[in-house]
Amino acid sequence: MHPNDPALRSFIDVDPTSDFPIQNLPYGVFSIADTSPRVGVAIGDFVLDLAAIEAEGLLDLGSNKGIFAQPSINAFMALGPKVWSSTRARISALLRHDNPALRDNDALRARAVLPRKELALHLPLAVAGFADFYSSKEHATNVGIMFRGKDNALQPNWLHMPIGYNGRASTVVVSGTKVPRPRGQLKPPTAEVPSFGPCKRLDFELELGVVIGQASPMGGMLTEAQAEESIFGFTLLNDWSARDIQQWEYVPLGPFLGKSFATSISPWIVTREALEPFRVHGPAQEPAPLPYLQQRGANNYDLHLEVNLLGAGTSRPVRISTTNSKLMYWSSVQQLVHQASNGCAIDVGDLLGSGTISGPEKHQRGSLLEISWNGSEPVEMPDGSKRSFLEDGDALTMRGWCQGDGYRVGFGEVEGTITPAV
Ligand code: CA
Repeated sequence: MHPNDPALRSFIDVDPTSDFPIQNLPYGVFSIADTSPRVGVAIGDFVLDLAAIEAEGLLDLGSNKGIFAQPSINAFMALGPKVWSSTRARISALLRHDNPALRDNDALRARAVLPRKELALHLPLAVAGFADFYSSKEHATNVGIMFRGKDNALQPNWLHMPIGYNGRASTVVVSGTKVPRPRGQLKPPTAEVPSFGPCKRLDFELELGVVIGQASPMGGMLTEAQAEESIFGFTLLNDWSARDIQQWEYVPLGPFLGKSFATSISPWIVTREALEPFRVHGPAQEPAPLPYLQQRGANNYDLHLEVNLLGAGTSRPVRISTTNSKLMYWSSVQQLVHQASNGCAIDVGDLLGSGTISGPEKHQRGSLLEISWNGSEPVEMPDGSKRSFLEDGDALTMRGWCQGDGYRVGFGEVEGTITPAV
């Protein structure tokens, strides 16, 4: 049976609303007590320790012994799509309800099947480079209206290429990492000169993170099929944004310090293969892109996304956005094709941000800038306070899943709490 078969069952009980059924098997890096971080896959409320399974001889990776006994999945990703697929199939087989190899080996299960809530989850990949795109037409239009006015909302290049910028890998952090309020140059429209201080308009951006598992040499170029084969998987990504720093600095060269202070990702990398059943075509692209950017495949995913905000000092989170990644105008494959198209080298462990995922409806807006419409329509909090932007102590959580028939392929969550500027 194919590892995506909806009829598959594991000997580990998995609730139908769990993000991690046997049809998912996302990769992460974990540690328990004072042991070294190593690679595992999530299954229900548990994590399967792949380093332990491999050491036991149940997972054969040829000469690559110990490849999961490492603090990132980069070395495994470098082995390529055929190995990704065969390894996932083998893990799936080991977890099946009718396979006694692991199911009936009590000693090994005690060592290798670990309760997820007892583990520390780490950044799953060593991030080689981070590039962030701007691929939702609704988001780009909304921001354009607020920053430049209605007549200049969408720049003339936007419909012809996935617009992006090179971000910073150094501050990509895993879910749960506290996010210190950034400092920077601020110049509100009413001020004559800029000042330096804590950001006053701190925001989030709901994005999909694309994890690249195959390198491409400097001077090369990728076809649609090659770009797709290079994508190992996906995470949820929060591209924290300091709107006041951003607005003052971004003309003419784009975001710099307004974005690079923090980017949070979810701890589990959902493989491209696990998302296969949920492929859909994105919105029609008109005008047609140039030939190198044209795609034939259904490269978007029907992935439900939601954002909850737990205000500082409050006990009940407020759902502030529900949207879907299928709405994205430019696909991840097009973004990667475009990034490599000038001859830029692509590395194993590169991370691409999709850009904020907003939709045409008000509840589908993927940033506070849009939700509060630049502060003019603040969110009402349960304690009666209002939020146009994030305050110290606010906690933001994103979740996402693809809904199958009786199961979901989910991403877990990416959470971050704001701490005061120091
Ligand atoms: Ca962004």
